[in-house]
Amino acid sequence: MDYTTLMMTCRRCDECPLHETRKRVVFHRGNSDTDVMYIGGAPTEEDEQNGECFSGKDGQLLQRAMDSLGIETGDVLMTNILKCRPPGGAFPGDKKSKFEADPTAGHCSRTWLDEQVEAVSPKAMVLFGPAAAQWALYRGRDDMPKRFGDVVSRCYQRKDLWPGVKRIYVTWHPSHLLRGAPGVNNQLDSVMGAISKAKDYADALRANKKGPTGKTIVPKQVVTVITKPSAPMIGSSCDQ
Ligand code: SF4
Repeated sequence: MDYTTLMMTCRRCDECPLHETRKRVVFHRGNSDTDVMYIGGAPTEEDEQNGECFSGKDGQLLQRAMDSLGIETGDVLMTNILKCRPPGGAFPGDKKSKFEADPTAGHCSRTWLDEQVEAVSPKAMVLFGPAAAQWALYRGRDDMPKRFGDVVSRCYQRKDLWPGVKRIYVTWHPSHLLRGAPGVNNQLDSVMGAISKAKDYADALRANKKGPTGKTIVPKQVVTVITKPSAPMIGSSCDQ
């Protein structure tokens, strides 16, 4: 299915209970013809009003970080695990959510997100926040870790991540930074580190696809968590 058809089809989706409370489906923001995807958890109220992901205060913060690195909106494709805003903004499974960890909520990642990734075919991906990391890397499994740190340390168990995505960076969600938690400057540096690395990797891959022997380099997929500015918390290699 081509990207536009996918988006139009998703806008009619009624596969999970969130379709009853949404005002509109929020599919993306940015450029589908890109090598870099950013993925968050769920649309905010502002996103729902504007019809675009990352269009509220968290998106403005992200945009400032992107501007400072010379990354334009058209350089990336931003989306969320869920395409419909959960009531109260709480992700299914979250303590504040009216929805329990509803298995049907996983439909969004198993179908729309997978199809979206397939249509965009990115080389690098940034997962913002634990919800995106958990649901992107563990959806449909019974052993989804509760702790953020366990998400990546156990990723070697996963053999069916998107094979074309060679670098996956997991970092703070921009909305987390808006809460003014201690260490917020370090967290901003971490977000900037993740989006900068994703850009650099995609740029390098485009510029030099040949290894020393003249053959195209096919790197293994690597998932890296960046929650501290200078020292990635965990780096993990996932064989495909
Ligand atoms: S959240 Fe996803 S699966 Fe649920 S209705 Fe919306 S588009 Fe469909």
